[in-house]
Amino acid sequence: IEQTAFQNDKLAMLGKIAAAIAHEIRNPLTSIRGFIQLLNPYLKEVGKQEYGRIILSEIDRANDIIYEFLNSSKPSAPMKQTVLVGLLLKESILLSESEALMKGCELHSEIFDPYLTVAVDVKQIKQVFLNIVKNAMDAIYEVKGERKGLIDISARREGKYALISIKDNGKGMERATLNRLFDPFFTTKDEGTGLGLSVSYRIICNHGGTIHVDSQLNEGTEFLIYLPYVEGKE
Ligand code: ADP
Repeated sequence: IEQTAFQNDKLAMLGKIAAAIAHEIRNPLTSIRGFIQLLNPYLKEVGKQEYGRIILSEIDRANDIIYEFLNSSKPSAPMKQTVLVGLLLKESILLSESEALMKGCELHSEIFDPYLTVAVDVKQIKQVFLNIVKNAMDAIYEVKGERKGLIDISARREGKYALISIKDNGKGMERATLNRLFDPFFTTKDEGTGLGLSVSYRIICNHGGTIHVDSQLNEGTEFLIYLPYVEGKE
């Protein structure tokens, strides 16, 4: 999958616009949210509390979009720290464990090279791992019952890169989905923002790396994240 420079420019531009107006939109959304909650007893009286629930969840979704955009448009130059890939993965897996339990997924990880070290913005890279693991859990959840959900996470050296693989046996993707995967706002989920992967891609590019994706419909997906490694203390 090739991410074009055009897509990256488009995302950067959209990010700037969003950052500029996000605060202005957030305030009215917050007051709408409050007033809808005040209306709740009246909606209940006429048996329409479902409408209130939908409005609230849609407001929350709009807020999520703004939040993710603000995040993605803020730091363009990463604040780099030298860290072990194994440690980054361990901490990301820990943060994903409760959701994995809820969605019936098993997380496995294998670090083939315990000294593998990268110089990265830890917060940003963790966000990337979390986005991709969360997508894997969603993909497994959607075929729940058909098979046991497994997510395999591994890291090794590949040329001058640390190669991190996040592989799931979830629903997989059609060609059409694969082609649009990294487009800002592309989502196939009812409650999705379609920003997770476009933001992740940009973060990895800003670190001098890249992301490749292999996917088979109904079988699963593998995300391959390449980050330049640095010589660590051995
Ligand atoms: P969102 O998760 O909000 O939909 P993303 O940018 O993270 O936004 O993902 C875009 C789309 O890519 C998802 O809606 C889904 O269709 C597809 N996708 C991403 N990861 C996977 C995966 N591991 N398996 C199947 N489909 C995936």
